[in-house]
Amino acid sequence: MNQRRHSVQVIVIGAGVVGLTSAWYLANQGVQVTLVDRHQEVAQETSFANGGQLSYSYVAPLADPSVISKLPQWLLRDDSPLRFRPRLDPAQWRWCTEFLASCTTSAVRRTIGDMLGLSYLSRDSLDELLSQHALQFDLLRSGKLVIYRDAKALAGAEPMVDWQRSLGADQKILDGAACVALEPTLRGIGHELAGGIYTPGEATADCAGFCTGLRGLLEQMPNVTLALGTQVRELVHEGHRVVAVRTDKGDLEADAVVVAAGMFSVPLLRPLGVKLPLYGLRGYSLSVPMAAGSEAPRLSVTDAARKVVYAPLGERLRIAAMVDMGVDRAEVDPARIALLKQQVAETFPQLDLDQARTWAGLRPSTPHSKPIIDRAGRFSNLWLNVGQGALGFTLALGSARLLAAQILDQPSPIDPAPFRLN
Ligand SMILES: Cc1cc2nc3c(=O)[nH]c(=O)nc-3n(C[C@H](O)[C@H](O)[C@H](O)COP(=O)(O)OP(=O)(O)OC[C@H]3O[C@@H](n4cnc5c(N)ncnc54)[C@H](O)[C@@H]3O)c2cc1C
Repeated sequence: MNQRRHSVQVIVIGAGVVGLTSAWYLANQGVQVTLVDRHQEVAQETSFANGGQLSYSYVAPLADPSVISKLPQWLLRDDSPLRFRPRLDPAQWRWCTEFLASCTTSAVRRTIGDMLGLSYLSRDSLDELLSQHALQFDLLRSGKLVIYRDAKALAGAEPMVDWQRSLGADQKILDGAACVALEPTLRGIGHELAGGIYTPGEATADCAGFCTGLRGLLEQMPNVTLALGTQVRELVHEGHRVVAVRTDKGDLEADAVVVAAGMFSVPLLRPLGVKLPLYGLRGYSLSVPMAAGSEAPRLSVTDAARKVVYAPLGERLRIAAMVDMGVDRAEVDPARIALLKQQVAETFPQLDLDQARTWAGLRPSTPHSKPIIDRAGRFSNLWLNVGQGALGFTLALGSARLLAAQILDQPSPIDPAPFRLN
């Protein structure tokens, strides 16, 4: 963008964690930012009650070679962590075709390499942000323990640990007793544990709390306007430029527009002929209040077979799980919540799940799990920051830095090529 820095105006659509961080990096470069969201508060959709994992080393895509053998279970069993409901929907079949094409060892390794670059940029960016601003969002850097009940599954994970180590991840393989020593609340299932993988550098935090903290910082900046409670209806374009963002409160104009509207980026961009390969993968969470002195894990724990994650968040324990494909609303399915509670009770019987708050969200996911951080096709002033899928909290700061560098025509902090639209 060849304009003087202070005069550049950018509209960011979406005040989830991706839109807020995008607004933050742009505003810090002197850009006049208008951040638009249909809710009066920030982080009211997918960024609201996610798993709380800052999972910098666990960036493997959902699409991997083991998927093919698991497909019958996903299709037929209701208690599978991943449930797939086929629909007569060309978008679903297109996404699934690309997803299956990504299930090769070479594609997975490439994706992990690309994603680690982005996640480490995010980790460094969080450190930098927190060195300048005191944000309260229940950040805990106590590491992540992934537990395995099945020795074969643990052995199967070892080559990936070696590969990730070669790319800079610090991970240790532990036996069952060492897992219990590290996280004593696992003692009830200690005899079932084959072992685990411990990653000391991982953290947990409250995504919505982080978003509220960022909102507070943005509100203090004279070059930022928060247009909350504003619904975007249409992107008005002339030729290859977006000339206005049409909202229920009137038209907004700017030099550039960033779309960071999660799954709702798809219908916003469709009329412009920009097809986003995003699919909403529904997941669920429980937030369990933890009274002082009650016994809850103090590490981030992931139950590998059941794909359940546990994150201590201040006075709550956040538990998140499951992938439902073939649903388009972020609504709680009582049967899935009942199954999740049963699985949690088998692992941590001491938790009082009657008090748990339930939540569901749609992970805005690409078939290969890599986000799209790029100009939107033929449009010279329209930008995308979408598709962070299951890792939006983890990847938000790095994604936003990468985006800001592209919009402002600055040297890129990492190679932008893996995150292109096409
Ligand atoms: C169960 C579950 C667990 C998860 N666990 C983790 C985890 O542990 N770690 C992790 O890193 N990630 C996790 N994620 C993923 C993460 O939550 C998402 O990737 C991230 O929240 C996406 O952020 P976003 O800003 O793109 O989308 P959103 O948070 O959905 O924000 C999009 C915003 O756009 C606004 N919007 C949309 N359309 C319009 C419109 N037309 N006009 C105005 N505003 C509009 C919405 O109101 C919304 O506020 C999890 C997700 C789920 C569902």
